[in-house]
Amino acid sequence: MRRHRTTARGALFLLLVAGLLAGTAAARSGVTTKPIVFPVLGAAHYIDDFGAPRPGGLHQGIDILAAKKSLALAAEAGKVKFWTTSASAGCMLYLYGASGTTYDYVHLNNDLTRGDDNRGKCVAGTSYAPGLKDGGKVAAGQPVGFVGDSGDADGGHAHLHFEVHPGGGKAVDGYPYLQTAQHLLFAEPKGKPFTLELDGTVMKPAALTLQVKVSAVHAWPMGQHQTKLRRPLLLNVPDTAIVQSTYGSSTRETTILSARVGQTVKVWTMPATASLKTERGDDLSLDAALVLLRAS
Ligand SMILES: [Zn+2]
Repeated sequence: MRRHRTTARGALFLLLVAGLLAGTAAARSGVTTKPIVFPVLGAAHYIDDFGAPRPGGLHQGIDILAAKKSLALAAEAGKVKFWTTSASAGCMLYLYGASGTTYDYVHLNNDLTRGDDNRGKCVAGTSYAPGLKDGGKVAAGQPVGFVGDSGDADGGHAHLHFEVHPGGGKAVDGYPYLQTAQHLLFAEPKGKPFTLELDGTVMKPAALTLQVKVSAVHAWPMGQHQTKLRRPLLLNVPDTAIVQSTYGSSTRETTILSARVGQTVKVWTMPATASLKTERGDDLSLDAALVLLRAS
């Protein structure tokens, strides 16, 4: 019996060591298994066009189509370098990620108006995020620039040409990185205050939590809006939260347990400070301040 127990413990120890070694090997190879932050905030469309034949050779990135001047976000923490002298790339930025991977952000905005005026220079506030410095450090998810059509993308649909260079080497297909990337609810410098207005339907009410299928998010005071979402979000509903049921113009106090699955709901979150967890909307990272259940 004793011998058997020792063997089982030995096997467990070996498993632990093997796990640790595997982790170390993965870290040493420079391959990050951590999902990146999706490099554009809000609605974006892309296909796997890496390696597609293009006039200048095989396509080295993924073209992420988005509304002009959408925020481009840091895929991971790192250092940025502005690149302003390439006629084909236009206004461009390198992000040297802490994992060793370099990300290229190409065709950033160069327009001063809503039109295609090409009057903007490759500077912070136009191409790059306001206040961002060449050589500056950025946190994961921090805004680094604006999606545009500079360089040889001029006049086409605004898009971010996004390249992934593991270990700073050759470009690899960024599609799998984007498919597993984390989409942010909002983007703001860490530590800044924010509150969210969420629209959606009730998925799962509980005593002190509420899971909502979010269809729209409005982030204040930044005024960032995203619609047509279908993402589940698990919120804290602390005792201090006000829960109301609205029917037409009448409103009455209720509790979260009266919520029904599929019911339309609007949630205002407690003012909080921005962090990657709250920007991602990780489980229970956001507290509800006001929950409005729409009775129909
Ligand atoms: Zn491209």
